[in-house]
Amino acid sequence: MKLGIFLKFVVLFAVMAIVLGAVGVFSYKNYRQQHYEGVASAQLATAVVGAAGMLDKATQVGEKEIRDSLSLFAMFPFLLCVEMTTASGEFYRWPPLPCNIIKEEKYPLNYANVLADGGDLRFYVSRQWVIEETDREVRVGIIAMAAFLLLFLVGSGLVFHRVVGHPVGFLIKSLRGISQDLTQQELIKKLTRDEIGELTDALNGLLGRIREYQSELVRLANTDGLTGILNRRTFFAKGEALLLKYENNVYFVQIDLDHFKSVNDNYGHGIGDQVLELVGRLLQGSIRTVGEREPDLVGRLGGEEFGILLSTENLEQARSVSERLRATLEKSEVDTGAKPLTITGSFGLAEAMPGESLDDLYHRADAACYEAKRNGRNQVVVAS
Ligand code: GH3
Ligand code: MG
Ligand code: MG
Repeated sequence: MKLGIFLKFVVLFAVMAIVLGAVGVFSYKNYRQQHYEGVASAQLATAVVGAAGMLDKATQVGEKEIRDSLSLFAMFPFLLCVEMTTASGEFYRWPPLPCNIIKEEKYPLNYANVLADGGDLRFYVSRQWVIEETDREVRVGIIAMAAFLLLFLVGSGLVFHRVVGHPVGFLIKSLRGISQDLTQQELIKKLTRDEIGELTDALNGLLGRIREYQSELVRLANTDGLTGILNRRTFFAKGEALLLKYENNVYFVQIDLDHFKSVNDNYGHGIGDQVLELVGRLLQGSIRTVGEREPDLVGRLGGEEFGILLSTENLEQARSVSERLRATLEKSEVDTGAKPLTITGSFGLAEAMPGESLDDLYHRADAACYEAKRNGRNQVVVAS
């Protein structure tokens, strides 16, 4: 199966996932940064409440104690620096270096008048920490989302293959096979009961109709419109095959109706057509269509000329078949409304010689037919 539809679906899905994912990650990142900034201030606020008393006591003891107390804030991973200013303006800091020389990006949080004597505390919080915490979360989210997408694609791929790909691939293969030879192939097997099954039913219906039309077209192309027997082209095509199959014992009977022009002249073209139709039917009904050998062929070769290709045991049999056909024509009558009309035909019979072409055989039979005309019509003449 080709992956055409599925790949398009995957690409579309991937583009949508990337765009929506990027927007989602961007807004989630912002939201989480605010959250971590909030976490840092809340933790510091709690710590300040706890540490204020200790700092007040340290203020009464000395500078070292104040610095030791301030250093306790180092337990917060996000804290870069803390400064304390007493009400009397004394200034302390942890770590001892000035806070503003710290290279890392930071933002200050001020707690004014939190000490007993009215002193202030000022913290410098690491923005880097906020970003790192957020990134860690986003990274985990992206990995989880990618894993989900992969699972989704693999899962939907398997379902797609089972539900759509396999049946559609089978349908395409069957249709290709059928289009190679519409008449020989079976209809398409129905694999599913869903829309693809319905599509298969619809295709089978369509194929059935095409077959009907096709066989009707073949019939129309091969037969003569008036008499329903083989037309000249198909008679000769099938005749070639018959002659190829049997080198010996093939006989051509050329039949030309006698004085047919006068039938048209005396009774009209409509009655003339009826005569031709009757002759076609009589000839077709009198030849052998079953048996070990290939069926004999009857065709309308032109206006009131008919041809028969027989494969019989010998010339005598072919002659007796021709004679029987001549007698059948002679005996048949066409209802004209007044006196019934009888018709006769002149027959030329030729036996195929080894290696002779159908065309040559036909011309010899035709010549024999002319001889029958010259000899007085309504008779069988065997070609020399
Ligand atoms: P002959 O005994 O020498 O064969 O005489 P003929 O009148 O049969 O021969 P000719 O070739 O002079 O005339 C054949 C006639 O067959 C002429 C033509 O009008 C008629 N014909 C040919 N095709 C049809 C057809 O389809 N329908 C009808 N009604 N007549 C046809
Ligand atoms: Mg003729
Ligand atoms: Mg004639």
